[in-house]
Amino acid sequence: MLKLLMKEKIWQNFLSEIQLLITPFQFSTWFKNARISEITENSVTISVANSFVKEWLEKKYQKIILKTFKKFLPEIKEVKFEIRKNPNPVIESTFQKKLEILKRKQETNLNPKYTFSNFVVGNFNELSYAAATAVCENPGKIYNPFFVFSGVGLGKTHLLQAIGNKILELKENFQIRYFQTQNFVSKIIQAIKEKKIDEFRKNLEEIDVLIVDDVHFLAGKERTQEEFFYLFNILYEKNKQIVLSSDRPPREIPTLTERLKSRFEGGILVDIVPPEYESRLAILKMKAQEKNFEVEDKVLEFIAQNFKRNIRELEGALNYIYCRFKDRERSADKIILSLQKFLKEPKKVVNYKTVIKEVVDFYGITEKELLSNNRRKDLVKARQIASFLIREELNCSFVSIAKIFGGKDHTTIMYGYQKILKEKEKNEKLRQEIEYLKDRIFS
Ligand code: ADP
Ligand code: MG
Repeated sequence: MLKLLMKEKIWQNFLSEIQLLITPFQFSTWFKNARISEITENSVTISVANSFVKEWLEKKYQKIILKTFKKFLPEIKEVKFEIRKNPNPVIESTFQKKLEILKRKQETNLNPKYTFSNFVVGNFNELSYAAATAVCENPGKIYNPFFVFSGVGLGKTHLLQAIGNKILELKENFQIRYFQTQNFVSKIIQAIKEKKIDEFRKNLEEIDVLIVDDVHFLAGKERTQEEFFYLFNILYEKNKQIVLSSDRPPREIPTLTERLKSRFEGGILVDIVPPEYESRLAILKMKAQEKNFEVEDKVLEFIAQNFKRNIRELEGALNYIYCRFKDRERSADKIILSLQKFLKEPKKVVNYKTVIKEVVDFYGITEKELLSNNRRKDLVKARQIASFLIREELNCSFVSIAKIFGGKDHTTIMYGYQKILKEKEKNEKLRQEIEYLKDRIFS
């Protein structure tokens, strides 16, 4: 009995620790139904519902699990997994099925939040949209490759992901993969290092839809271009759909090999230009609605008139007023005034003071608060983001950032930096806030 209680207690301890390190989604999928079945002086055995979970935990979570146990049981050297005895066979099989679907979705790397249903179509992007929907209806058959280009923040990633998500929905058996080019490059480099390039190739040759975002990052990466060319040809020959984006047309990507340029141009080439006023307004209305943010038309019109460069900037302005005004008394004039104020200020020299000023402005706190030792949650976050930006954008050392923040320990700064770096990957809102702040700092 005592032993049982102890196991439960340790497990609860473990859960509360690991929860901080992974997303709620990962937590509920992989850990909620697991238990400790045995614990010895230096090993823990975790029992799980089925082989799928077991395999997944072994492959992806072993290290982090061990590390987490070690935090409070330093003598633990090993974590083992086993399948729980007597699982309910019915539950087991539906659960298994659900997991298979989930696994299939996870493997695609697609983000379900980018769809056609929340993609506003206007003059500025209607050609790309039309071609993209045609691709979804007939993948591999009409436009191959599909190549879209535009400046930043105009919806390339959204469109590519929407294509992937749509095909995922329409074609149950299709294997789909979405890659950021940078990610694709590092996977290739890793595969080469580990001498697993054949395996890597084999896996990709089996897919039906290959989506690669921002291929301009292939510039200068010869070995990756070679690999990409090889893969492209194989998929193309098999009538598999290839979907690409870039910040410029293939011809203008420097140091892209001639043969890739001509491959990229061999299907359909579409571009997206900055949206016109009506589209900007329609986008703002939709984004406000998505957030359940009630805001007067006058404000949205003001934003649409003044933030013209791209959609990320529009979203940024909307996020700004959302964060600042959603829970407060707000008049349209007041909101507009706050936006106007920061439209006017031209910025030239960028140093840590610029960063601090923007962060303080954005989060509606004072500089004194930011630089204080107050541990209030919002202040800690603003501090971490400011340090993050100073580090990333100005390349300051952690020691000198610690000095800016009143002589804190530089490991605290480093910890905060890593936290933001990690969280940014998982938390779209945070990513947007940072992008937005960057825009402000450098514009
Ligand atoms: P890019 O990849 O071209 O830099 P993104 O696809 O990341 O641009 O778009 C930037 C932001 O604007 C994203 O949040 C995206 O959801 C939004 N967005 C882009 N195009 C549209 C659109 N047509 N309708 C609604 N939102 C859009
Ligand atoms: Mg993008």
